[in-house]
Amino acid sequence: MKIKIYRGTHQIGGCITEITTEKTRIIIDLGTVLPYRNGKMPKENLVIEGVTYIGHQKCDAILFTHYHNDHTGLLGKAIEGIPLYMGEGAKKIFLLSQKHKDSGLISRIEQMNSYRDGETFTVGDIKITPILTDHSAFDAYMLLIEADGKRVLHTGDFRTHGIKGRIVIPRLNSLHGLVDVMITEGTNLSYKNPVVTSEYLLVEAAEILMERYRYVFVICSATDIDRLAVFHKASVRKKRFLCDAYQMSLLETAAKYGSSLTDCYRFDRSSVYFEDLDGLQDGFCMAVRNEKDFLEIMEPYREKHNEESLVIYSMSEGYLKKHQQTIEKMIGGFRYHIKLHTSGHASEEAIWEAANTVCAKKIIPIHTEDPENIRVGALQERVVFLEDGEDFQV
Ligand SMILES: [Zn+2]
Ligand SMILES: [Zn+2]
Repeated sequence: MKIKIYRGTHQIGGCITEITTEKTRIIIDLGTVLPYRNGKMPKENLVIEGVTYIGHQKCDAILFTHYHNDHTGLLGKAIEGIPLYMGEGAKKIFLLSQKHKDSGLISRIEQMNSYRDGETFTVGDIKITPILTDHSAFDAYMLLIEADGKRVLHTGDFRTHGIKGRIVIPRLNSLHGLVDVMITEGTNLSYKNPVVTSEYLLVEAAEILMERYRYVFVICSATDIDRLAVFHKASVRKKRFLCDAYQMSLLETAAKYGSSLTDCYRFDRSSVYFEDLDGLQDGFCMAVRNEKDFLEIMEPYREKHNEESLVIYSMSEGYLKKHQQTIEKMIGGFRYHIKLHTSGHASEEAIWEAANTVCAKKIIPIHTEDPENIRVGALQERVVFLEDGEDFQV
């Protein structure tokens, strides 16, 4: 079995991993690039034979670990007819979000195969077992790849401080000593002091804010189901949790696919906002996004209820930089606004713990600008630093 990281050995977004045997070739994730920390944009002009253009080499499947754009953004460039795979719940969320954007990807997503936690499937002579993990995208997976008597674990994006954080390490326990290569994300290795507070601590902070302010607007990604669960949980004792119809469809999907795992995904006290909100005795907590409709909804609160209103920015700094003007429009004029956020990615300690739990023979860091910052204790000598496009024989 051979591994090739087309992209991601020295950058955070746009990771593309290839795994090949004599007979089969699969691609894991096909995303668009994200800007470097210095703000510069990496080159996007990646072409892969048999994936983005027809050539001698064929591709038997593209597997997506989750729906974030830096893992799926090049889907539109993939040759039609290559079988695509994504987690069942993730596929539904992805489809709804692309329908909302009216993107050209809808039929491609509808045709995707879906996989489930722990249910092994095969592509040619490669066996794939999805392992549900914790991330800021709903229904995200690590993938265990088995072929030629070897095992590779691709972590996708993961963390251990989210709503499902407690499931991550126990699931890796069963792989202890059985994995030849662990390809791990290392996003936070590039940051000096990443915010890796538990999502459950955000609930506690949000509860205090819900007590203090009558009207709370949360600027949050519609597909960051964990974060919406945080604010839903924090608000239900005191307030109505409100959102628009699109957001509600995502929450209902999360409830369908996730509530067997945790009550946090039930969202049973949420409702679609309505015209006369002033009648709500204890106010509300509303999930909002940088779309025009929300600016109009927020306007009267800025004008008439400023002292009783709070705007919470609950997304990454990177998103804020990219959409500064529109976010400022939403927040501007409100006397009270704060940031409440935590990383969707593993802390340095979580990477250490995951690596030491699996105890793979080799460890390859990707999805990071600074792979050399990885610390895995006694396993340090097992770390392999690859360049983009380099072949690695397992
Ligand atoms: Zn992600
Ligand atoms: Zn990512």
